Amino acid sequence: MKTHAQAVVIGGGVIGCSILYHLTKLGWADVVLLERSELTSGSTWHAAANIHGLHDSTNISRLQYYTMRLYRELEAETGQGCGVFQPGSLYLAQTEAREHQLRLQAAKARLYNMEFYEIGRDEAERLHPLVDFTGIRCIMYEPLGGCVDPSGVTHAYAAGARARGAEIHRFTPVTATTPQPDGSWIVETPNGSIHTQWVVNAAGLWAREVARMAGIELPLIPTEHQYFVTETIPEIAALDRRLPSVADRDGEYYLRQEGKGLLVGAYERDMRFWAEEGTPLGFGHELFPDDLERIEENMMRAIARVPAMERAGVKRVINGPMIWSPDAAALFGPVPELKNYFSCTGIIPGFSQSGGLGLLSAQWMVEGEPQYDMFGWDLARFGAWAGKAFTKERVRDQYAHRFKIHFPNEERAAGRPVRTRPAYAMQKEMGAVFGLNYGWEHPLWFAAAGEPREETIGFERQNWWAPVGREARMLRERAGIIDISNFARYRIAGPGAESWLNALLANRMPKAVGRSCLSPLIGKRGGVAGDFTVTRLSEEEFLMVGSGMAERYHSRFFREVPLPPGTTVESLTESMAGFNVAGPRARDLLQRLTNADLTTPAFPFMRSARTEVAGVPCIAIRVSFTGDLGWELHCAEADQVRLYEALLEAGQEFGAGPVGSRALMSLRVEKGYGSWGRDYSPEYWPQELGLDGLIKPDKEFLNKAAWQAIAANPPREKLVMLEIEATVADATGNEPIFTLDGRGAGRVSSGAYGYHVGKSLALAFLYPDAIAPGAEFDVAILGRPHRARLLDRPPFDPDGLRLRA
Ligand SMILES: Cc1cc2nc3c(=O)[nH]c(=O)nc-3n(C[C@H](O)[C@H](O)[C@H](O)COP(=O)(O)OP(=O)(O)OC[C@H]3O[C@@H](n4cnc5c(N)ncnc54)[C@H](O)[C@@H]3O)c2cc1C
Repeated sequence: MKTHAQAVVIGGGVIGCSILYHLTKLGWADVVLLERSELTSGSTWHAAANIHGLHDSTNISRLQYYTMRLYRELEAETGQGCGVFQPGSLYLAQTEAREHQLRLQAAKARLYNMEFYEIGRDEAERLHPLVDFTGIRCIMYEPLGGCVDPSGVTHAYAAGARARGAEIHRFTPVTATTPQPDGSWIVETPNGSIHTQWVVNAAGLWAREVARMAGIELPLIPTEHQYFVTETIPEIAALDRRLPSVADRDGEYYLRQEGKGLLVGAYERDMRFWAEEGTPLGFGHELFPDDLERIEENMMRAIARVPAMERAGVKRVINGPMIWSPDAAALFGPVPELKNYFSCTGIIPGFSQSGGLGLLSAQWMVEGEPQYDMFGWDLARFGAWAGKAFTKERVRDQYAHRFKIHFPNEERAAGRPVRTRPAYAMQKEMGAVFGLNYGWEHPLWFAAAGEPREETIGFERQNWWAPVGREARMLRERAGIIDISNFARYRIAGPGAESWLNALLANRMPKAVGRSCLSPLIGKRGGVAGDFTVTRLSEEEFLMVGSGMAERYHSRFFREVPLPPGTTVESLTESMAGFNVAGPRARDLLQRLTNADLTTPAFPFMRSARTEVAGVPCIAIRVSFTGDLGWELHCAEADQVRLYEALLEAGQEFGAGPVGSRALMSLRVEKGYGSWGRDYSPEYWPQELGLDGLIKPDKEFLNKAAWQAIAANPPREKLVMLEIEATVADATGNEPIFTLDGRGAGRVSSGAYGYHVGKSLALAFLYPDAIAPGAEFDVAILGRPHRARLLDRPPFDPDGLRLRA
């Protein structure tokens, strides 16, 4: 065994082997995989190994398509059979909502050249004569769908990696991982230790135990999962071809051909956790006792769909463990608090995603950043707040509703609340309906007396649409008070505060005390990894405000810039709270509560002051994400209720009241403001987002060289605004856009109804050749064309008169 390596991958399941393979493909030959037993010894060996392509997330679709196309290449490259069967998959919609979901996915597939399209019932019956299509509203066909042999695929990745120089050591359990002062690691095993640059945790079922060796907790918990295989079914035995698999997600089971019988699996409501406290180290190729009763309902629905199954006996039952994160997506990426420690764990559809996750893991380590925005899979989306109880309740919910549609704007209740502010109870009393943002409960909207406090979910406009409109109009016509406590806040203090911020961010920091600036943070590929408002509070003190959900994500970048002596960076997100008071009467409202002169000459746009509002010490900054006249007030969390009460009371005179974040979304879209995580991401260059003007080329900043390499490139896509003819559903994000003659033109990044301007709106990325004044498009809301028109200016206050009033 070598003693030095560029990377040591821990775990020889399908994921670890794919990461190893892709590291070598990107040029790192000096890599080692350590496996405590035989390869495939975790969840991998007993998987049903179905493969699917289309996903609600476009980037996951991309990496699943890459994976589905890779398996045959892998076979050809390595000579190792992968047992690939790709007879296609049929996706069935029993409900209107499922039909919307599938149509939307088909429209995306058309935009991105993926094969997933509608077929008629005759065609479906020809493809799968055993399915009873009664009650099915629409059918999609995915020709690349099918299944693989789990062991074959894992060994093929291993063979491909070995052929490019990687070492694989079986029966070599990792017993310790110890960080070294220079950021490298010592990985210990009973057979010796390896000094390595990177450690990769791909330990699947044992990811928690391996993470603990490095002193970290991963929010993961295993569950049981069952499928069964039937005896031979004569109708299948009589066929000379393989049947497509069936994704009848409303029936809550999966079904495909196995041998001359069928394989059916289910995510049952009455689910079972396993090894909650820790996966036993000695657990080998064991399975759990079968319990088909638990999945009986799902089974009966499968039999109703494929009646030929009724007469077939059950040949084999597999009840094995798999390990889940709180949202069933991977815990992916470098652990922010550790140097060179990569996690690729918690993967549920490992066979649909192994190739893509392996490729993006390798890109992240070798090239510094993956090519796609992976925030939804980045483990930094969870913080320490995602503890055991939260993880367990979320996993229960995820498992039991695995095939339920995840609607846009849906807020799942399981495991909440986890983090609340002092104003929570008061907001609840006022009718607030809450959402979850990086663990915090924050008001989405406020139900009036007599209105339901539970929101409905769906692709179409829901019961919150009218109350949110009421709030948005109140703010635009009078004023509104928005709780912005869930924004991330940082205090940078000390003699080197200015130079640290200048070294981190692309804009130049304000010289004068009381001034604010907006600044992008540049990622490793030159894209926009963040956007911040930075305010100079004093000569040596700055307040930086950014995206709340990205706090841990951004900490990776902060750690890259050394702190000058005597300078500190402190998160104030927990210790402070905040409100945005905005709208044409915001000044009048606030002036009732403060002695500070709020007139524009005394307090212009993008200025700040430490002041008291209703006796509460605040940092007041004249900015508002609503695009209206407004101030952000940041105060100690302990003063939140006192300040809120005072603002609400003073607001009564002006007809102002509380406004939630759904209305904020509508207001900022009306104004054309992009938001990090939706419109801004490291995948896009500043010139594509209209943020290039904020970059100062005459100073150094983090990843400047990466930005310089792309700065002169013409935009690949451009962030624009669209007005859409929509009456029952607004765009929500990621809807594909086509030209009127059917060519792909781009996609929506954020959508909302603009209540003040009376238009359904979207921020969207368009390909440059599709952009022309007044150009018209079709936006695939609900998967069906909705006519849209390019706007040359945001419909609300394009000249910024309200903002600067
Ligand atoms: C019943 C069932 C059906 C499934 N069906 C499908 C399906 O149809 N399609 C699909 O895509 N997915 C399916 N899955 C999920 C799939 O199996 C997983 O996504 C996948 O196997 C995860 O692979 P992994 O490499 O992350 O983890 P694992 O397979 O758990 O591999 C982790 C490896 O790490 C090793 N290891 C652990 N600790 C150490 C250590 N300290 N030192 C060295 N090595 C260590 C283990 O021995 C193990 O080999 C199914 C799962 C189950 C349980």
